[in-house]
Amino acid sequence: MSSSSLTFLGAAGTVTGSKHLLEVGGRRILVDCGLFQGLKELRTRNWEPLPIDPRSIDAVVLTHAHLDHCGWLPRLVAGGFRGRIFCTPGTKDLCSLVLPDSAHLQEEDARAANRGGYSKHHPALPLYTMADAARALERLQPVGYERPVPILGTDWGRSRDGVGTESTPSPTVEFVNAGHLLGSAYAKFLINDRIMLFGGDLGRYDRPVLPNPSPVAEADYLLLESTYGDRVHEPDDNGARLAIIIGQTIELGGKVIIPAFAIGRVEELLYWLGKLEEAKRIPVLPIYVDSPMAAQALQFYSNRLNELDWGRSGDGVDSVPTPSLRHANVFATTRLTIVTSAQQSMDLVASRKPAIVISSSGMATGGRVLHHLAATLPDARNTVLFVGFQAAGTRGRALCDGATAVRIHGRDVPVAARIERLDSMSAHADADEIMRWLSAFTRPPRRTFLVHGEPAALAALQARIARERGWNVHIAAHRERVDLD
Ligand SMILES: [Zn+2]
Repeated sequence: MSSSSLTFLGAAGTVTGSKHLLEVGGRRILVDCGLFQGLKELRTRNWEPLPIDPRSIDAVVLTHAHLDHCGWLPRLVAGGFRGRIFCTPGTKDLCSLVLPDSAHLQEEDARAANRGGYSKHHPALPLYTMADAARALERLQPVGYERPVPILGTDWGRSRDGVGTESTPSPTVEFVNAGHLLGSAYAKFLINDRIMLFGGDLGRYDRPVLPNPSPVAEADYLLLESTYGDRVHEPDDNGARLAIIIGQTIELGGKVIIPAFAIGRVEELLYWLGKLEEAKRIPVLPIYVDSPMAAQALQFYSNRLNELDWGRSGDGVDSVPTPSLRHANVFATTRLTIVTSAQQSMDLVASRKPAIVISSSGMATGGRVLHHLAATLPDARNTVLFVGFQAAGTRGRALCDGATAVRIHGRDVPVAARIERLDSMSAHADADEIMRWLSAFTRPPRRTFLVHGEPAALAALQARIARERGWNVHIAAHRERVDLD
């Protein structure tokens, strides 16, 4: 693969900001374009320009619609990117929710900082605007799973440095279901007979709602996520701990607050809550999904039931949606309310009645869940339950690590509530599941690059792959460029 290289512009040594630049024959493809989240030193990277001009990028390929993979797109387009953004139809649907929502939060944050005077910048500006998000959405080009498409168009034979010729086929990209989120995929490139596989985020095995990650047999170059590279999730307990946590909190007359990103985790949570309710393992409770995005996301999931998986394929039951499930309220529990208006949300924050509230963001870095946390954290009767990965530097991580107070909207909120986490609900493969996925490879990749992990997880996974599979594994460094031979 002469004159090809890979440059890590994000998610190297950390779990956010995924951006991988693939350069081939003088052309540029950016795989994922995510926001940095968490620690301030990472978030400030969102304001730094890329080391290359966005106008020089020919195309973007998106693995899925989580913000740490797509949330920098509006900034890229505002910076002059004018190519197409290839993604699956499910990813396009979800991007149409998360990008405007993210822009809205950026605008709100800037307004709040200007009002409260707690920004060093005067005036504080949003990272991007609703208009930038809309312009990014216009560039999305949906492509179904397992359909290789030429990514650099018809003028590939006339590439800038003359490497491509009429006889060299244009590089193609194909999306393969990763089982991590609706529309999630690995991006599989075929370039000059070499397979380059960008793993995106890897899903879980034998979980409800999403299918297992598709097995992959070979790749010459592999980019692999390492979020839980040093951990194994607690075994699936069929909702037992969730039922206990809810039961104990409700008995005290408290609320259960579940910070969860409005797409992905909400669906699995509702699946479990519905199941526990039906089996009378928890009382029938008012359950609120406090997110303007969630109703639409639930509809997108319901529209694509054929891409989902309804039971845990392990027990062979319900693996296909029954006719009664093939409609929009497959995720409904008995007393489910989707809260959309701000007034309804404020009323819910003020209410002291026992209830389950699912609200975003999942790492408590912003969004409506902050109002719920400010109101419930000081009271020991309440529980805050985390169901996803909590990146370093987020309020979610601080709470899981036992913080006695967290700063919300410029004031310190004491923590008396019970803090719990349920990693079994994570959408990311654990170390055993990553190894299970790698076991389908029939030959070792020439090189494997580890990304999307914090340092301890990366080191542990690198050692484990070397030990168990004997592969050449490299931990990517931020802004490192490697030549692909
Ligand atoms: Zn993800």
